[in-house]
Amino acid sequence: MQLYKEQTLRIHNSLTGKKDVFQPINEGHVGMYVCGPTVYSNVHLGNCRTFMSFDMIFRYFKHLGYKVRYVRNITDAGHLENDADEGEDKIAKKAKLEQIEPMEVVQRYTVDFHNTLQLFNLLPPSIEPTATGHIIEQIEIIKDILEKGYAYEANGSVYFDVIKFNKDHDYGKLSGRKLEDMITNTRELTAQDEKRNPQDFALWKKAEPQHIMRWPSPWGDGFPGWHLECTAMSTKYLGETFDIHGGGMDLKFPHHECEIAQAEASTGKSPVNYWMHANMLTLNGRKMSKSTDNNIYPAEIFSGDNNILSKPYTPAVVRFFMMQAHYTSILDLSDEALQASEKGYNRLMEALDSIDKLKTGTKLDFDVATWKQKCYDAMNDDFNTPILIAQLFEAVKHINLIKEDKESISNEDKAELKKTLQAFIYDVLGIENQSMAKDDSNTLNGVMELLIDIRNEARAKKDFATSDKIRDQLVALGIQIKDGKDGTTFSVN
Ligand code: AMP
Ligand code: ZN
Repeated sequence: MQLYKEQTLRIHNSLTGKKDVFQPINEGHVGMYVCGPTVYSNVHLGNCRTFMSFDMIFRYFKHLGYKVRYVRNITDAGHLENDADEGEDKIAKKAKLEQIEPMEVVQRYTVDFHNTLQLFNLLPPSIEPTATGHIIEQIEIIKDILEKGYAYEANGSVYFDVIKFNKDHDYGKLSGRKLEDMITNTRELTAQDEKRNPQDFALWKKAEPQHIMRWPSPWGDGFPGWHLECTAMSTKYLGETFDIHGGGMDLKFPHHECEIAQAEASTGKSPVNYWMHANMLTLNGRKMSKSTDNNIYPAEIFSGDNNILSKPYTPAVVRFFMMQAHYTSILDLSDEALQASEKGYNRLMEALDSIDKLKTGTKLDFDVATWKQKCYDAMNDDFNTPILIAQLFEAVKHINLIKEDKESISNEDKAELKKTLQAFIYDVLGIENQSMAKDDSNTLNGVMELLIDIRNEARAKKDFATSDKIRDQLVALGIQIKDGKDGTTFSVN
């Protein structure tokens, strides 16, 4: 039987403001869309936190036995510097600055994004569509919204008519804002403005002659508004109504509110059943962000080359640190917090590595089945990873007591404990056992040192049969030995 049939998962739904029981549209299947990065610069650790949160969510669904279609886009056009549809396109601006093609900017930072997420052991999504690959779909949605009367053309641009939409629908229902309050709090339009109301947002922007990223459309050359790409790509791959839409908390308004408006105006249906928002990583108590200097890049953490932290930390420790906070809570990065996480991570891995050697007995002091369900209860309560980790440490406590002969565990329970710990640590939390990789490489280095010594001794005695045998058999195993001025080194293919 699939695990999801035995477990009741509750998800904090930003749309209802409550923890709702998760009920997928199609039994056994989950459709999940998460807003991806705008690829105009390297991802900072804050961006990584949001993607890591959704990776853990993706992993838990898979662990429960769901077939998940996880769509995470790449924003490679249309994201302007300013939410009010003003300023330059972020990618075009960077391309001009570096005197390269916009698509070179996109390629460079998409590669960085993938490499970084791989270091943090994130699983790739099922589909990773790009905004520029879906211009036709976006134009079709604009035509549809225009036809339904919720948008208007002005001077080669098309704007969404928020006031008109709000008469028939509820603009602001996700972010809890009221249109009347928004109107009172925004500046008046000036004569140059094309919008009928400041709350209206661009579906299509006319490209001025100097704008390099442009596509033909029924309204002339231009480019799509940022919010539209996510509506186009989510409905294309997941349907007009799908299960889950996620993103960072800062995207709730206006981005996600506008996505709801676009979809409802076009299809008449609510696009998403569960809206999920991951909270921010802060540094010095302020949101980590690209536009201010208040950020740290993953490479700076792994190398230790930064003036915030006292030493380098591995990707697995950083991921463990992230998982120790609930995804809806703000998390502040600091050296003390990372040091504490490193200690916790080492304790957890040591316990995990020592299970095989635990002596077994008949007296049962640790109820593994009850403990295992508590781990599921934690995850079923809106993916509560800090509570799950507290449960993992409960197991560590018992492992250590068994090691000291103060408690006992049966053979069967020991196997179940190991399987469950590995499932939650490796598969669900996505935390790799880097201490094991380190141990493996230490062992290899030791064995190679010994073989190189034996080979050198054989050569000194002119026993070339032995020295050649060592070299040739290592080559057959994919290990090359090189004799240099400073001694003998080896490399593994
Ligand atoms: P962007 O590339 O700016 O569109 O951001 C990509 C993702 O990172 C979005 O989901 C943002 O909400 C998220 N994000 C940006 N800053 C932070 C932060 N300081 N902490 C967590 N997530 C963030
Ligand atoms: Zn989006």
